[in-house]
Amino acid sequence: MKPVPTLFWFRNDMRLDDNPALAHAATHGPVVGVFIDDPTTPRPRGGASRWWLHQSLAALGTQVPLTLRHGESLAVLRELLRETGASRLVWSRRYDPAGAAKDKAIHDTLTREGFTVLGEVGNMLAEPWDISNAEGEPCKVFTPFWKRLQARGWAAPQPAPRVAWAAHGPSVPLDTFCPLPTAPNWAAGWETLWTPGEHGARQRAEDFMAHGLRGYADLRNRPDLPHVSRLSAAIHFGEVSVRRLAHLAQAAAHADPTLRRDADVFLSELGWREFSYHLLWNYPTLPHANWKPAFDAYPWRDPATDPAAARDLTLWQRGQTGYPFVDAGMRELWHTGWMHNRVRMVVASFLIKHLRLHWRHGEAWFWDTLVDADPASNAASWQWVAGSGADAAPYFRIFNPIGQGKKFDPMGAYTRHWCPELAKLPLDFLQCPWDATPFDLATAGVRLGHDYPLPCVNHEAARAAALAGYHATRADSA
Ligand SMILES: Cc1cc2nc3c(=O)[nH]c(=O)nc-3n(C[C@H](O)[C@H](O)[C@H](O)COP(=O)(O)OP(=O)(O)OC[C@H]3O[C@@H](n4cnc5c(N)ncnc54)[C@H](O)[C@@H]3O)c2cc1C
Repeated sequence: MKPVPTLFWFRNDMRLDDNPALAHAATHGPVVGVFIDDPTTPRPRGGASRWWLHQSLAALGTQVPLTLRHGESLAVLRELLRETGASRLVWSRRYDPAGAAKDKAIHDTLTREGFTVLGEVGNMLAEPWDISNAEGEPCKVFTPFWKRLQARGWAAPQPAPRVAWAAHGPSVPLDTFCPLPTAPNWAAGWETLWTPGEHGARQRAEDFMAHGLRGYADLRNRPDLPHVSRLSAAIHFGEVSVRRLAHLAQAAAHADPTLRRDADVFLSELGWREFSYHLLWNYPTLPHANWKPAFDAYPWRDPATDPAAARDLTLWQRGQTGYPFVDAGMRELWHTGWMHNRVRMVVASFLIKHLRLHWRHGEAWFWDTLVDADPASNAASWQWVAGSGADAAPYFRIFNPIGQGKKFDPMGAYTRHWCPELAKLPLDFLQCPWDATPFDLATAGVRLGHDYPLPCVNHEAARAAALAGYHATRADSA
């Protein structure tokens, strides 16, 4: 008798290593691997994320036979269950509100129809509902959340299971399924920057543990240095498991105790990701509504009705604000699909506080342009910078883009790289070219307002306006 296959639905777990759901599927005979592009998804992936998805599917397709299908997920799964004769469907759980609701509906429907449907944790150290505060409520502050998660612990990562893959067609060709950008190809050259897929992720993780981890605790704020992992997209797509990463960092610290502090800080950054999912799970409106409703009263400028606000949003998106550290970050994002965390905080603060544009505009731009765009980390981080989120930076702490540039890009290498028109400016004026003497500007070949923009807002005036808006908010909400 022909063995009955199991359907394995890949989503954000694009790997074989430490994949508990796949390990479960493998114990039940042959496995058919499928990936679905569902047009009914309320918030489709942005462009950069789809670029990564294409590459990730291509990489996974070299490891396993993969069936690619377009269509509403339940309809496609029903079709595949019928075509393959499978009686079991297995996946790693999703936690974004729409994905989780869809999964519940699929689970309930197919179970009623006699199929076995099983989800496992695939891309988290703990599931968002595993942790609560002393009152049994969701945690609203990171440190106690992280302490509780660490005290609870997580299972050790498991090697890739032995899987009897069963090829199943027809499958949509990848170039049609998830086309790469062509006219224009805004991702030209990205394949030299990134190696999506499980092997690339593992390689990057091991390189980071060997060469980047030492110094991470102190140097992760320096965008000019290679001391962050750049693993965020691989983590988002589940090309490497967070348990595996935690294990690698802990093993590095075990082998060399002088790495302990660096490993602990790296683990706590993974903890911020867990906290973001905890927040999203418990507060599903996080991606679009202020977590603190008092911020609803803030007098944001509206690009839909205010041409000056629309102009400022465009300048920010294009890296033309006239503040070099901000512009460097926005250009890095556009040219690579990624931005260093310190610079993300500075550009986000600039949009929200200097330009007084709602964080949702920034969140949406990041959603479209980041290869690591993530429903939880993006929303939670934007709200953190805005001050409207849980355990957020206070609104009145307004990053000074000049001071941040001087402090975290002390030699100016990062800013000069992304703002080459300022490359020859003396370091003292690199973050504030408007303070340079006409002689310095002429020597550096910079005509402000021509080669590089004049600042779109005055820092001090913008800061005062942001604070005035904040005080009005507090008065309104009192
Ligand atoms: C405004 C703003 C928007 C952001 N949007 C996203 C997003 O859409 N997707 C995303 O993955 N991260 C986002 N972040 C968090 C953080 O900037 C990135 O995770 C980090 O820069 C990725 O680089 P890395 O992999 O080298 O990080 P590392 O420093 O090497 O950290 C390792 C991993 O920990 C996680 N991590 C690190 N910092 C954070 C954090 N503050 N919050 C949540 N997880 C974190 C990521 O998975 C990261 O890959 C955002 C931050 C800000 C300020």
